[in-house]
Amino acid sequence: MTAKNVVLTIIALAALGAAGVMIVNQSSGGVPSEEDPNRPAYLVCQNPECKHEFEMTHRQYAAARASGGPPECPECGQRKNRLGHKCENCARIVMRVGHSELPAECPFCGHDFVSDVEGYKKLEEAHNELLGSDADGG
Ligand SMILES: [Zn+2]
Ligand SMILES: [Zn+2]
Repeated sequence: MTAKNVVLTIIALAALGAAGVMIVNQSSGGVPSEEDPNRPAYLVCQNPECKHEFEMTHRQYAAARASGGPPECPECGQRKNRLGHKCENCARIVMRVGHSELPAECPFCGHDFVSDVEGYKKLEEAHNELLGSDADGG
């Protein structure tokens, strides 16, 4: 390695270090640290011929939305899907109704969702937080 290359390497490392400090400073500002970006988000494909139920991490979901809309369905590839809730009882993914509300009970097995008020609230919070300021036009 020539002297010139060494100098360039040092400059590059210094720049990376500065960028890292900036990122740390920004992230310590607003975003609550208890959010786990790897917690699952459940989705149902809205293609009537597909209706595939799938899941991804909140991080992946947020990244997909940031890149132009709902994530692609792994089955049919269409970007038409909605957030849902995974039924603890039958493991099916239940779509929200009306204004992003869960039905009172699982349409597949009849499991009572409303009795799980705490979990329901958390789901609502997670959902709103995912959508954020990006209003869901569709
Ligand atoms: Zn699909
Ligand atoms: Zn169920």
